[in-house]
Amino acid sequence: MTTSLLSTTYIAAAVLFILSLKGLSHPETARRGNQFGAIGMLIAVLAVAFHAGVIASPTFLGAIALAAVIGAFVASRVAMTSMPQLVAILHSFVGVAAVLVGISNHLAPAVELAGSERTIHDVETYLGIFIGSLTFTGSIIAWGKLQGVIRSKPLMLPGRHLLNIGMVVACVWLGVAYVQGGHEALPELLIMTAISGVIGVHLVMAIGGADMPVVVSMLNSYSGWAASAAGFMLSNDLLIITGALVGSSGAILSYIMCRAMNRSFVSVILGGFGAEEGAAPAGGAAVEGEMVATTAEEVVAKLEAASSVVIIPGYGMAVAQAQHPVKEITEILRSQGKEVRFAIHPVAGRLPGHMNVLLAEANLPYDIVLEMDEINDDFPTTDVVLVIGANDIVNPSALDDPSSPIAGMPVLHAWEAADCIAFKRGKGAGYAGVENPLFFKAKTRMLYGDAKKSVDAILQLLRAQ
Ligand code: NDP
Repeated sequence: MTTSLLSTTYIAAAVLFILSLKGLSHPETARRGNQFGAIGMLIAVLAVAFHAGVIASPTFLGAIALAAVIGAFVASRVAMTSMPQLVAILHSFVGVAAVLVGISNHLAPAVELAGSERTIHDVETYLGIFIGSLTFTGSIIAWGKLQGVIRSKPLMLPGRHLLNIGMVVACVWLGVAYVQGGHEALPELLIMTAISGVIGVHLVMAIGGADMPVVVSMLNSYSGWAASAAGFMLSNDLLIITGALVGSSGAILSYIMCRAMNRSFVSVILGGFGAEEGAAPAGGAAVEGEMVATTAEEVVAKLEAASSVVIIPGYGMAVAQAQHPVKEITEILRSQGKEVRFAIHPVAGRLPGHMNVLLAEANLPYDIVLEMDEINDDFPTTDVVLVIGANDIVNPSALDDPSSPIAGMPVLHAWEAADCIAFKRGKGAGYAGVENPLFFKAKTRMLYGDAKKSVDAILQLLRAQ
């Protein structure tokens, strides 16, 4: 393949990636965005394989086929609720790839450079490995926390900020030695790789449950920069562009998530910044009152009497896969002339946009699905709120209990409606592990059971009316 044809295909793939990102920014265009991304990646892989002359190599074809089969198998079986874990583990692959590319590039440089060009190249290699190693270990810890194999409580080591600073200073010092030492400086490179891996573990271990969305998007950003650094090492323009797209979109997403949770980016990445050293994080004030159970019949009676209903979906709705009967309930209520709307919290579920994806899957009209800021002022004039498998995102202690681990996070004001029904299986806490005073309020009723079963029961009763 000629260099100009290669450049043309790279440009085509890069344009497709940009269109993909644009498409993914709205549920209506997300499927098309995904297709653009897949086509762009296919073009990129084929172009690289042709250019490198490996398109007919059995090793290359075997590796691609094996990876494609594993990828398709895992992606087709993964539950929507386990998607963040899958994303986290995929980020770790990008991290480890950047480390391997960097080390092999050091051992067998593709081109022999001298002078300032060589220095720049060494810095690229060193930075790429640093980010890659941090992304690799940090993503594995994030996977463990999301999967529940590592506890989500933040690890607050005494003097942790000093420890982080010490490790970063050591990496900078080793970096200077590496650039001066050149090819002989493999030990410096390997020591830095290990230290950076420890930084990744330590940073993510220090992050509490409710801040995990920011960590996932932040690691997404890191994986992009690691890929971009690998692109510089390999002098591959497309990898540089793609990595920069992932890195910058991940950084923007992290910023949006931080704003949504009223957290400063620095405090999240430093993990519990400002909390007392060595102390266990506060669990929030004790909650007074009792949780009062209700029945599907009582819920239907309230819905019959209501003229405005707001549905707040959360992680439990995703687990129960209750979105389809929820849609049918919505249709029945709307056909009776009631106003039914959905309130989406930016970190509801376990994935940015998780609820939007579920509701789009159930074919709910987009115009009744509103973001938190668009609907939060309407709760005082709402008759009934249905909180379906949500917990942290409707926890009033975020606003009125400074000792709560989720203090300061904006939440949906479900308690301001005339009636609130919470669908839950039992008394389980939300992802942040905090008690929720909403469930103890006088006007809240608990409809216990799996959300799908409860919603189905309500649907049957509504149909029978
Ligand atoms: P939560 O995890 O806070 O609460 C979900 C509730 O659903 C639980 O209290 C549980 O109670 C209930 N539940 C679980 N399964 C079922 C079921 N089958 N039927 C009925 N109820 C069920 O979810 P939210 O959506 O309110 O908040 C999301 C949390 O996840 C936030 O803390 C957020 O920071 C975090 N997070 C978000 C990410 C994102 O990108 N969106 C990524 C990572 C974390 P019970 O056990 O009693 O049934």
